[in-house]
Amino acid sequence: MRCPQCSGSDTRVLDTRTPDERTVKRRRQCATCGFRFSTAERPVREEIFVRKRCGGVEEFDRQKIAASVQCALKKGPCRKAEVDALVDEIIAKLLAENPKCVSTDRIGDEVLRALRRFDEMAYVRYLSVHRAFANLSDFRENILGGVENDGDTV
Ligand SMILES: [Zn+2]
Repeated sequence: MRCPQCSGSDTRVLDTRTPDERTVKRRRQCATCGFRFSTAERPVREEIFVRKRCGGVEEFDRQKIAASVQCALKKGPCRKAEVDALVDEIIAKLLAENPKCVSTDRIGDEVLRALRRFDEMAYVRYLSVHRAFANLSDFRENILGGVENDGDTV
């Protein structure tokens, strides 16, 4: 693990934490410049597949989820760490249900649920983009139902 500050390759682990059972975080210090930074280890999830609405299957890609969340939040005052936390939460929820395979619809639902709690405008923005193929009454139901109750149906 190279130092992000000076690229030195000699770093020392100061502290190891496991914030959840899927993650190991280490606080490190560079022996060359003294810079302190954190690293996180997570299992590589290459075995997870995503079922697409059209019937195809693709590899699970955290970046895609992060990008769509970030896109929905673009006008909000949110920071990268917050987006990361939100994406972690979405993925943990999805994988708790089925650790092998998720559908694009389920991803969309979880992203919506997380955004709704986080930023109302981002929620509406995401909904308008990702439910573009759904009919209008469905769209209206999602907006109205979503704002008024915190139920489990999206
Ligand atoms: Zn360094």
